Amino acid sequence: PEGVAALLGTAAADRPSGVAIRDTDSGEVLTWAGLDAAAAAQAARLAEAGVTPGDRVALRLPTSADFVVGLFAALRAGAIVVPISPQAPAPELHRLLDHSGALVVLQRTAGDDLPEDVVALPPRAGGAPAEPVDVVRGGEDIAVISYTSGTTGPPRGVMLSHRALLANLAQLSQVQGALQATDRVLITIPLFHVYGLGPGLLQAAAVGATAVLSERFEAVRTLELCVEHRVTSITGVPVMYAEFAALGAEALGRGLATVRRMNSGAAPLHPKVLTAIRQATGLDVYEGYGLTECAPVVTSTLVTGYPKPGSVGRPLPGVELRLVDSDGAAGEPPLDPDDPDDVFDVLDAEGGTGLVSVRGANLFSGYWPDGTSGPGEDGWYRTGDVGYLDSEGDLHLVDRANDLIIVNGFNVFPREVEEVIGRLPEVAEAAVVGVVDERSGEAVKAFVVPAEGASLSEQQVVEHCAARLAGYKVPHAVEFTESLPHSATGKLRRLRLR
Ligand code: ATP
Repeated sequence: PEGVAALLGTAAADRPSGVAIRDTDSGEVLTWAGLDAAAAAQAARLAEAGVTPGDRVALRLPTSADFVVGLFAALRAGAIVVPISPQAPAPELHRLLDHSGALVVLQRTAGDDLPEDVVALPPRAGGAPAEPVDVVRGGEDIAVISYTSGTTGPPRGVMLSHRALLANLAQLSQVQGALQATDRVLITIPLFHVYGLGPGLLQAAAVGATAVLSERFEAVRTLELCVEHRVTSITGVPVMYAEFAALGAEALGRGLATVRRMNSGAAPLHPKVLTAIRQATGLDVYEGYGLTECAPVVTSTLVTGYPKPGSVGRPLPGVELRLVDSDGAAGEPPLDPDDPDDVFDVLDAEGGTGLVSVRGANLFSGYWPDGTSGPGEDGWYRTGDVGYLDSEGDLHLVDRANDLIIVNGFNVFPREVEEVIGRLPEVAEAAVVGVVDERSGEAVKAFVVPAEGASLSEQQVVEHCAARLAGYKVPHAVEFTESLPHSATGKLRRLRLR
């Protein structure tokens, strides 16, 4: 079976002189034929360095042409790709290299900071051409080990097969307004995260569209890039759209004039942002929900073709979704989605709130190295997300099961409390976690970032919540802080706060 690497081969054969990559930081423009040649040269170099099929090759590169060349080169050499953030601090980098057993790291720097037995190679082959290599991998072979961002625990290596990644691309190709060869897709989110890699880069490659890449998002500059490169589609995260919206209607209308389609995922998109962008441009932002284990997209509002504020839409064609009850017996703690011995009841359509479970060809093959905790024998995978289906069958996410705070036996979902605190005009951002409490088991603690120039007291926050929430949901403590910890895709890192 032909795997992910064949996407490049096919595009290079079909449209050799079409533009594959515009790297807006280096100014490099690569055609499909050019990308194909660069990847072939680098694949040969990897084989020469001793990489054999199934070996792990780490990519420690920002969103750039270098990353794309390295990715396809490693796949052609038959390797398993391990994307790592170029910003990862040394201990994390060493842990991921050690855990994945990577032999080679493609990176721009010399590699003095790598463990002794790991070889650093520049992302692009120079010098005399090496012996060509083209290893065919596909199906159940693992293409990528994607380490989750660790918002809830230590990073885990999600094994994504060629089958899973290609299945999600096929599922994505069936939604409204799916990507076309004529599209130019802006990607400023990390390619080392599966959201940028799959629905961003690989989806563009699958249809032969141009990927317009930039290492960083900066609202004003990014809008200029959209104009300069006549961007038609944006694969983004909520913070980007919030920053766009803050620029005002005129700047947005001008900047997004050529755009026809915008996607948001990885974290909740605020309905206020959706409305502001629609008013400024007449365009909708379509929200999707996914996770690394699902390679990654599960639902999208593009399935119906109309956005619904607060909802992440419906399952992609080919993806099955159901909700299961994780409450367990009365008086007991909730069931653990990761525990194979816990028995979950399947909820019927009107069953209310439950744990989101997913089945489909896009699911992962368990965690590296031994494939533990993959989908069950019946093919269902229990995510750690809690949600409900509305009367039209659209999914609404409530929170993550792991983030649940249990006060005196009552469940508190942090997002509800955060949303209430966020309504205070003096608040820029709020986060809520559970802290140990002698009397109630756990108590609610809030971290609050005041809006610029605003002054706010703990008492004000508590009184505001007490007027709007049940007593057990009201924070017992409020800590003011200048900023909150976020992951590379803008997710709140509650574990750090805890
Ligand atoms: P870890 O598993 O280590 O905590 P992570 O969960 O952040 O890392 P990802 O696979 O990057 O790893 O994130 C997937 C999670 O992101 C989902 O389980 C869900 O909680 C959240 N998420 C994704 N899309 C959305 C969305 N549109 N709205 C709200 N949350 C979302």
